[in-house]
Amino acid sequence: MSVEILKNKAISRMGNGMKAVVKAKVLDIIEKAYDEGIYVLITSGYRSETEQNKLFAKGRTTTQLRALGITGIVGEPNAAKVTNAYGTQSNHTKGIAVDYCLTNKAGTAAYWSVNSDWKRVAAIAKSMGFEWGGDWKGFVDNPHLEYTGKITVSPDKTEVGSVIVTNPNKPDTNGDANIKKFQEFLNGYTKKAKVTKLVVDGYPGPKTLNAAIHVFQYFSKVTIDGEFGPKSKAACPVVVPGTTWSKWTRLVQGLLYYHGYNANGFDGIYGKGCVKAVKAFQKANRLTADGEAGPNTFAKFFA
Ligand SMILES: [Zn+2]
Repeated sequence: MSVEILKNKAISRMGNGMKAVVKAKVLDIIEKAYDEGIYVLITSGYRSETEQNKLFAKGRTTTQLRALGITGIVGEPNAAKVTNAYGTQSNHTKGIAVDYCLTNKAGTAAYWSVNSDWKRVAAIAKSMGFEWGGDWKGFVDNPHLEYTGKITVSPDKTEVGSVIVTNPNKPDTNGDANIKKFQEFLNGYTKKAKVTKLVVDGYPGPKTLNAAIHVFQYFSKVTIDGEFGPKSKAACPVVVPGTTWSKWTRLVQGLLYYHGYNANGFDGIYGKGCVKAVKAFQKANRLTADGEAGPNTFAKFFA
């Protein structure tokens, strides 16, 4: 089963009420876990107030519900409690929470035991600014992840929502903000891509390009040697507009910034600005300017 299937399931189960930033981050969690051989199944995301109240009714009587002002819903006192939140108390109604379980490689089962893989997913999510319900005191909610919107991406930076801000108490160095994001992105794969951690300084030097080649080879599942040779070229995908491979899109965006092209954001979304920048890069390198980043374009990125 491909990661795309898991991501598409997640998109449909999260529903339309999810905040876009959170939705994108959940898809990233699925991708990161998949790279480690962990298959994440999102079981729910956005819920309306009524849907949340129906869940809250499990394990409670109609009288108990009425006492809280919940009307029009029948209690299910014989069912097991699944939540302690009603109405808008649950962050599912705000579009910033999801529930997950694990599945097998074929995507045919649902596992609910909180094993090391389960906890690894929680750890990945926490590193991206989520709170895990398994950490809660009182009502422990192991399947639950909610975005709290704050994440420390480096000692002097905090990400709020999708914006990385410099902490005011630490002096900022110069350098390009997008190159810094690219360097932080590459640093996320140092172990797997067998490359030394970069200094996040925002300067596009040879070490950054070398790290990018290593990460490219890790993504492409070819021997990691830091040389963009025939095997790397043969394994190179074509990253196209609208692709849902956010890590590949980020690699393209980072390489565009590296070469001085404005990719219009380092967000993993292959939008119009990214297409325009790829076309400009292709034109300058005498390639067919189709806006799709394939083997010939990557060859020039790494030349
Ligand atoms: Zn939940």
